[in-house]
Amino acid sequence: MTDRVETNERAQQLVQAAEQLFTAGVMSHSGHANLSARLDDERFLLTPGFVRGLLPEQLATVGHDGRVLAGELRSVSAEIIAMHSVVFRARPQVGAIIHTHSPAATAFALAHRPLPCRTEPMLRFGQPEEVPVVPWGPRGSDVSVRGIAEVLERRPTTSAVLLANHGLLVFGPDAAATAHLVVAIEESAEAEIAATALGGAVDFPDGALAAVRAAIARVAS
Ligand SMILES: [Zn+2]
Repeated sequence: MTDRVETNERAQQLVQAAEQLFTAGVMSHSGHANLSARLDDERFLLTPGFVRGLLPEQLATVGHDGRVLAGELRSVSAEIIAMHSVVFRARPQVGAIIHTHSPAATAFALAHRPLPCRTEPMLRFGQPEEVPVVPWGPRGSDVSVRGIAEVLERRPTTSAVLLANHGLLVFGPDAAATAHLVVAIEESAEAEIAATALGGAVDFPDGALAAVRAAIARVAS
């Protein structure tokens, strides 16, 4: 069971991560995002339906079963509980999840195009493989949630997915690392698109991704 001090700490970290996304300039015009942090096997903290100017005490505590246990969520946010809990359930190591409509990453989601790993930041900040696309389903619907679960099962090491015709969903050990990866992915998506004007992005040399994956596996074990 997570105690009050730990809960407050995770709430602070989520608020800082949200600020970091605005500072880094990876948010869409609407500023839409939702962020969550695991408290234990049954509960997590979730942003209430807005993130701009968010205060730690405005975060809601929700159960993986979809119940709001403390605080308040705007009605639209109820739909996104399932999108977060499916990731927490599938990945016991995940401590935080961030969903954004970051413009360049969302362009890949609109084109149903996986985002290749061809930049140093993606390699370094936890995604040494392409970001796969989850087929479209209405937000929070069974179709959408099942789609996420299926892709996570098929791609056991991915730390992010693109939600077709929607946006980006990224997950990591804590809020700060997850926000870093959102920034790395958005930056990489922008660079991919920019590189098309120059003849197209080029892959890393043979074996480079495998070497980084092996190094990460060594650190993790
Ligand atoms: Zn969304």
